[in-house]
Amino acid sequence: MTTPPVTDAFDDLAAQPGTPRVPGLADRVAEVVAVTEEHLARTDREAAFPVEALDALRRTRLLGLLVPPQHGGLGGTLADLVEAAQLLGRSDMSVGMIFAMHCQQAAAVVRYAHEPLRTQLLPRIAAGEVYLASVTTESGKGGHLLTSEAPLHQDGARLAIDRFAPIVTGGAHADGFLITMRSPDADSANEVSLVYADRETLRISGSGDWQPMGMRASHSIPMKLQGTVPAHHVVGEHGNFREIADKVFGPLAHLGWSAVWLGTAAGALSRVLRLLRSPAGKKQFDLRSELLLTRISRARQRLESVHALLQRTLRMVASGEDLSVPSRQLLLNSLKITASQECFAAVDELIEAVGLRHGYLKDSQTRLELVLRDLRSAALNYSNDRLHLADGRMALLDQGVRFA
Ligand SMILES: Cc1cc2nc3c(=O)[nH]c(=O)nc-3n(C[C@H](O)[C@H](O)[C@H](O)COP(=O)(O)OP(=O)(O)OC[C@H]3O[C@@H](n4cnc5c(N)ncnc54)[C@H](O)[C@@H]3O)c2cc1C
Repeated sequence: MTTPPVTDAFDDLAAQPGTPRVPGLADRVAEVVAVTEEHLARTDREAAFPVEALDALRRTRLLGLLVPPQHGGLGGTLADLVEAAQLLGRSDMSVGMIFAMHCQQAAAVVRYAHEPLRTQLLPRIAAGEVYLASVTTESGKGGHLLTSEAPLHQDGARLAIDRFAPIVTGGAHADGFLITMRSPDADSANEVSLVYADRETLRISGSGDWQPMGMRASHSIPMKLQGTVPAHHVVGEHGNFREIADKVFGPLAHLGWSAVWLGTAAGALSRVLRLLRSPAGKKQFDLRSELLLTRISRARQRLESVHALLQRTLRMVASGEDLSVPSRQLLLNSLKITASQECFAAVDELIEAVGLRHGYLKDSQTRLELVLRDLRSAALNYSNDRLHLADGRMALLDQGVRFA
């Protein structure tokens, strides 16, 4: 099998650094936001997947944001992804993460799927028929992306999948799965393949149980996936998932997640400011209080830092520079670590600023209680400890401390 020619939208991104290009993107996102807002109290309370918001993502063709126009997609850039993820995150972090993770999977198909999978699957994603779930985490190895324990077996022209997945966002509603498994005939756990499976080709079992602190509407359930797929459903080359992780999964995860988290915290700050400046807020809060002003300033400062880092990293990734260079890896990882910490800290600060009634109770219009629970997952979603360990090794070798 050979890698397809480099004519797709994802590579195009490199030619258009940092610029959005999908007309009417904000209107499409606004349609999803309106639906999300209508259902978010219930989806959080019931830990239920936001099927209505997913329908809106299908209808508005946003599921095909990164699919090239020749396959019917919107042909969006990384800047479009970051913009849409932020706007969705302002409304609901679960919906934002569902969207960002799907786009990350779609980009891997765009760039690495072989024929005939490529021409079969991309138009279905573009048309909103296929919502993709991600299966990388495994029980024994936790979140470690570059290893896999479950073996993929090749039997002639078919690949046999038998994989337990402890946490799959939207797994009960996904139309297709991208799954990491140990390559056929692999000598070590580092030889990982990425394989695509349509939902209808799999036997799926699992309790469906999901009762987390936050991210409740992400409905990230444990699942057992079993079945066979054609051999051409391997995405990229067998044993070479590392390349997809380095070039697509890592960068798009860190950019997409950070954009969602920034949006989530910015949405919370915006709602707090609306409350403070409303007639009722002006009666309840002293807007000249130095303590209040300092707390608002600190929250804003944290978000400014994340925004600047996000834009800088976006430009680096979109310019097509070699991301395996340690200084660039360090920047990419810093974005994820910093965004996860600062967005959470900003919202925590806002809770102090407005106090118990509007900071701690579920029914406040600020939604700080929900947002804090959701943002607590950011440091855990691909553990910051893992990234610090990798960063520490790279930083140790760079005695000159050269920045990307
Ligand atoms: C809301 C949400 C949705 C998710 N959706 C999906 C999904 O759809 N598909 C999917 O595959 N996964 C998903 N994940 C899993 C996620 O990508 C991570 O893999 C997962 O959160 C890591 O699990 P873990 O806590 O076992 O972390 P691990 O990274 O395995 O770490 C376990 C513990 O060990 C510590 N640790 C880890 N490595 C080191 C180290 N080297 N040195 C010191 N300490 C270390 C960590 O701090 C942590 O306390 C989701 C997670 C969340 C929170």
